[in-house]
Amino acid sequence: MLEAAKAVALSGPGVGGRNGTNFRIGAVLFSGNHVISAKHNELKTHPKLARYSPWPFLHAESSCILHAGFDASHGVDLAVSRVKRDGSVALAKPCTVCQAVIRQAGIRRVFYTTDDKPEVWNVADGSFAAAF
Ligand SMILES: [Zn+2]
Repeated sequence: MLEAAKAVALSGPGVGGRNGTNFRIGAVLFSGNHVISAKHNELKTHPKLARYSPWPFLHAESSCILHAGFDASHGVDLAVSRVKRDGSVALAKPCTVCQAVIRQAGIRRVFYTTDDKPEVWNVADGSFAAAF
């Protein structure tokens, strides 16, 4: 899952830093082994995010959910990978805005990369743990 999200991240434009090339983020929505949607970070904005944030730039996680629709997102898993310029992965824990979107969509679990081992957020009980 996280490898797929990493591939998606690498297909997107870089974001962050003065040149916008510090890192890339990709997210993939999974139902079992079936990919529902796959999106990377975008610099463009989305009107739905403007309801949650004064900085409505479209993050990969929210983009994935908005693309799939809230109904299709209910009860499925999301994987998020952040890839640094040197190709290594880093913390991709969803921001508070994306966490609100994830909760509202009813996502079951969110797997994300860290600087070390991947972690999983069990959305229903709010717990965070090592992923594998
Ligand atoms: Zn976010």
